[in-house]
Amino acid sequence: MSAPTPIGLVYAITQLTAAGKSAREIGQQLGISPRTVTRWRTKPVAEPAPETPATTWTDKALCRFDEPEVFFNDRYLGAARATCRTCPVRRQCLALALTAEGTLSKHNRYGVFGGLTPEERAARAQAS
Ligand code: SF4
Repeated sequence: MSAPTPIGLVYAITQLTAAGKSAREIGQQLGISPRTVTRWRTKPVAEPAPETPATTWTDKALCRFDEPEVFFNDRYLGAARATCRTCPVRRQCLALALTAEGTLSKHNRYGVFGGLTPEERAARAQAS
């Protein structure tokens, strides 16, 4: 089975490339190496679904283009974090994920939300 393409990340890279940013600039913005930018920039991916008017913040989530595995498998943690870093609704996503802290046992919380792992969210919630 091949690794899933992080479509949200590729989409972000494509948008930043179209805006005239170099691989180095995109890498700095997304927290990934220029080599990774170049690798995904040349990867053919299906166009994201046509934009429809957003009715809720989740309609703007960059991860809606991705296979869930990108956000629920540690192998793809870097891609998930980079996608979240450029997601327009990261603040809302993280706020929602942090409200779940304390309502589920640690072992029932999985995945990257708002760019943070379950352990990082737990630490953030404890600190506040
Ligand atoms: S910040 Fe949240 S909504 Fe945005 S890509 Fe990451 S997990 Fe998805």
